[in-house]
Amino acid sequence: MQSLTNRGKQVERKPMTLVEKMYLPAIFKGMGITFSHLFKKRPTISYPEEQRPFSAVFRGLQILNRDEEGRERCTACGLCAVACPAEAITMEAAERQAGEENLYREEKYAAKYEINMLRCIFCGLCEEACPKDAIYLSQTFAPANYGRTGFIYGKEDLLIPNPVTDPEGYAKAKGTIPQATK
Ligand code: SF4
Ligand code: SF4
Repeated sequence: MQSLTNRGKQVERKPMTLVEKMYLPAIFKGMGITFSHLFKKRPTISYPEEQRPFSAVFRGLQILNRDEEGRERCTACGLCAVACPAEAITMEAAERQAGEENLYREEKYAAKYEINMLRCIFCGLCEEACPKDAIYLSQTFAPANYGRTGFIYGKEDLLIPNPVTDPEGYAKAKGTIPQATK
């Protein structure tokens, strides 16, 4: 049969020698390769104790941002939901009441904000569309879950820790404290 490429190789079918029949050279050669790997740098890591740093442009789980006073930045304008090609974002707006100025930055805020992580393709368009710097894609990802409802992330899952009451949690979520790699 005519070969499609010129990369074909003729295999010699000469009879094996006595040493070859004992397979010892092949066994020692294989063990040599195995032992040589003992002295090489391990390409694997012990996840989850050890974690690789993400790329600077990695787009992970969304975070709803607060300002430096701990107030929610989102004004429930809906631009992120309109920009989302996967239609993964839903929200309900509410009006800020007197005395809630320390909770919400704008007069209107998102009383309910949900992202369906089974729909999200982590494209980052919601972050680009937001005029209030209220949503961004962080350097973490949605953990595995057994149920579909576990992938509907509500406001309580997405909201960043308050920088006033929990500065360490806020800095960690922001990525200003590098994650432990060991
Ligand atoms: S990252 Fe993309 S797909 Fe996911 S919620 Fe934002 S706009 Fe939608
Ligand atoms: S996250 Fe931004 S774009 Fe989306 S509703 Fe809130 S303010 Fe508007």
